[in-house]
Amino acid sequence: MEENKSAIIVGAGLVGSLWAVYLSKAGYKVTIYERRSDIRLAEISAGKSINLSLSTRGWKALDNVGVGDEIRKIAIPMFGRMMHDTEGNLTYQAYGKEGEAIYSVSRGGVNARMLDIAELHGGATIHYNHECVGADTKNGIVYLKNKDTGEEINDQADVVFAADGAFSAMRYHAFQKLDRFNFSQRFIEDGYREILLPAGENGAYQIEKNALHIWPRGRFMLIALANEDGSFTCSLFMPHSGFDKLISKESVDEFFKTTFPDFHEMMPNVADAWGDHPLASLGIMRSYPWHHGKTALIGDSAHATVPFYGQGMNGAFEDCTVLNGLMKKHNEDWEKVFAEYSQVRKPDGDALQDLSLDNYYVMRDYVADPDFLLQKKIEAKFSNLYPDKWMPLYSQVTFSDIRYSEAYANGKRQDKIMKDVMASTENIASNWDSEEVMAKILEKI
Ligand SMILES: Cc1cc2nc3c(=O)[nH]c(=O)nc-3n(C[C@H](O)[C@H](O)[C@H](O)COP(=O)(O)OP(=O)(O)OC[C@H]3O[C@@H](n4cnc5c(N)ncnc54)[C@H](O)[C@@H]3O)c2cc1C
Repeated sequence: MEENKSAIIVGAGLVGSLWAVYLSKAGYKVTIYERRSDIRLAEISAGKSINLSLSTRGWKALDNVGVGDEIRKIAIPMFGRMMHDTEGNLTYQAYGKEGEAIYSVSRGGVNARMLDIAELHGGATIHYNHECVGADTKNGIVYLKNKDTGEEINDQADVVFAADGAFSAMRYHAFQKLDRFNFSQRFIEDGYREILLPAGENGAYQIEKNALHIWPRGRFMLIALANEDGSFTCSLFMPHSGFDKLISKESVDEFFKTTFPDFHEMMPNVADAWGDHPLASLGIMRSYPWHHGKTALIGDSAHATVPFYGQGMNGAFEDCTVLNGLMKKHNEDWEKVFAEYSQVRKPDGDALQDLSLDNYYVMRDYVADPDFLLQKKIEAKFSNLYPDKWMPLYSQVTFSDIRYSEAYANGKRQDKIMKDVMASTENIASNWDSEEVMAKILEKI
């Protein structure tokens, strides 16, 4: 007898549309409710939407359901970071071993492809302009408002997933009303504003296409990721108090001229483009448990984070890998699936957020610190000598699928070893690559 299994997903963002494919492949009739209109009809050019870096965890989740190649068509590899100093000098650092790269994808581009995939591969029905305004998590009922007609409707399914992002309405209207549901949100001092660096003549890239560009300036930084059309999507991260000072066109122009002179040369009209994108805030939202009754939180609705490790989407996609494994393990007994999902995945969500926050401090306070740079140099040398014994934290997070919680713990242990070795070695600045130092690390592993 044909089973009629049904699922509702709230939010047709990155994780909602991918999870729809997984559920459809498992035989569910999937209905997605999305607050916005269909982004595929909005004709957003690649450069006008924020860019994300996609790495191993994300690819794994995409490839699991055979849709990775669709995304590869629009992904630009970045093999390392290119640092720009105030003199315009460039320094390049590879991200990983030869051939290892993270990939620049436009949020709009990926989301549009994922919607195609959810509909075509997943057979999902997507209702746009439907805003979730509440839910009965226990019984799998979602309350919605049709934004075109104002009509209020509800829908029910065997299982419901809240994939409605960092400011999840499902979480706010339903989970946060439950007894013993924990929730916290923390905004960091910094915000960000996007700027589109246009393509040069004949659509040429004005700076190296296959690198993530960073203009580190102590308390703030500018980054740039390539788009397919020759442009770069750039983001300026800075404390809100800094943005408050950039109120006139003259102040913006002067700021770029003196702080990012090589960027200003490429984009002398940056002050005119300043208002094209709003100033946005950055925060971390923690919650627990991630399920109740027939409903679960996935992606940013469960564990939104700051973007300094480039892992929010990758971690959200990895939720699909984990949930899919549990769905199979428990033969779709959702009570068991959800209970284990909350329990097992939560430490990884926490670690993802801790890693992102730590990297915020690293980028903010340490990237120019001589001790920090020396530590990284020693670590790289040791890891090259003993690749089986030492994988740098960045590689564990970005180029492996070691659990975030394990990677975080490994990173802390490695940091302690390095600090101990550096403190116990005389003239470490000149002896950093000596056999003695390498032997000391080996001993402590
Ligand atoms: C500046 C910045 C840079 C980032 N860079 C990276 C990066 O380089 N790499 C990376 O891996 N991650 C990055 N991230 C994180 C990444 O964007 C998120 O982790 C990812 O988008 C999470 O996907 P999601 O599907 O959970 O949420 P979203 O992508 O936010 O999707 C949520 C969806 O739900 C819809 N929705 C919201 N409310 C309702 C409602 N009431 N009813 C119905 N629908 C609703 C929204 O319209 C949206 O379509 C970055 C984030 C920021 C802010």
